[in-house]
Amino acid sequence: MTAAAPARPVPRPGVLAIEAYVPGKSAAPAGVKLHKLSSNETPLGPSPRAVEAYKKAAEKLEFYPDGSAIALREAIGAKYGLDPARIVCGAGSDELLNLLTHAYVGPGDEGIYSQYGFLVYKIALLAAGGTPVVVPEKDYVADVDAILAAVTPRTKIVFLANPNNPTGTYLPFEEVKRLHAGLPPHVLLVLDAAYAEYVRRNDYASGIELVSTSDNVVMCRTFSKIYGLALLRLGWCYAPAHVADALNRIRGPFNVGGPALEAGVAAIADDAHVAEAVAHNERWLPWLTQEIEALGLTVTPSVGNFLLVHFPETAGKTAKAADAFLTQRGLILRAVGAYGLPNALRLTVGGEEANRLVVQALRDFMKGEAGA
Ligand SMILES: *Cc1c(COP(=O)(O)O)cnc(C)c1O
Repeated sequence: MTAAAPARPVPRPGVLAIEAYVPGKSAAPAGVKLHKLSSNETPLGPSPRAVEAYKKAAEKLEFYPDGSAIALREAIGAKYGLDPARIVCGAGSDELLNLLTHAYVGPGDEGIYSQYGFLVYKIALLAAGGTPVVVPEKDYVADVDAILAAVTPRTKIVFLANPNNPTGTYLPFEEVKRLHAGLPPHVLLVLDAAYAEYVRRNDYASGIELVSTSDNVVMCRTFSKIYGLALLRLGWCYAPAHVADALNRIRGPFNVGGPALEAGVAAIADDAHVAEAVAHNERWLPWLTQEIEALGLTVTPSVGNFLLVHFPETAGKTAKAADAFLTQRGLILRAVGAYGLPNALRLTVGGEEANRLVVQALRDFMKGEAGA
């Protein structure tokens, strides 16, 4: 009765259903200065103190890192007033999002995320053998009622990027609390706060309070964005003790490299550098929004360090045409067709030069002037 064994190893169901994540482009045409505005990286770079710590780590490459990441967990705990025992570090928050999914989701289980939610959630769910459940948004904002309506007895996890990438929109903390209050207690709510430091809204909170006061909420953070350490792959999460325990059982024993741990400790101590990045964003996010809207394009209001720019479907003025036009000038934005947004491009707030060049290039593009 046994079916014939396959002729070669076959991945578990779900694996081949995954469309691999396609990162933002990073190449400009030969001879053109590159302005990479495609991956929400900071134009300010990392703290010089982090770079120094990273270089110092090069002197002891033969030693394994501290698998418990205690120095970094204590530094994070001290900064935010958190119990280090409830912090888990990862090789980017991507790793933590995947570990959380693998710990709580298996075949037959469902995981919910919203329409334009970060694509890593879908990949993590499929990789775990789970079923992604995608919930419509309203005006590019996650819809709490729709998420709650999508919960079934099979739901194990709900992902909310707050603010969300690629839309830049956010849910006020009251809404996040309402979402949490409506979830059954066995459903894990994952708050992905990768851009929390950039948000300047009185009604926003990253979710620390909710993690502290409940048994089913986790908040993920990253050193890739405002801290400028994307190359090193470093993230952390704050979780209930029982969730941290589960993650610590399934993670690799040395999942974060030593140079990343040491750079992280130095970076988190440099408040002035973070403040500078926030001030830069405060200046240029509204400027870019206004200038681009003045060209007749629609910009989704963003609280992050990036903007979603919507193009008309008019022939010659599509997002695809704009992408090609900008690329000719070395301005690399992020195509977001994979998010179901074929008529939009995501623009990371860059340095002054890049920001001015983008606006000028978009102006020329909209006027229909020929190439670069
Ligand atoms: C960039 C980003 C992350 C961070 O990824 P890392 O793996 O830490 O580099 C997580 N979530 C969202 C929504 C992001 O945009």
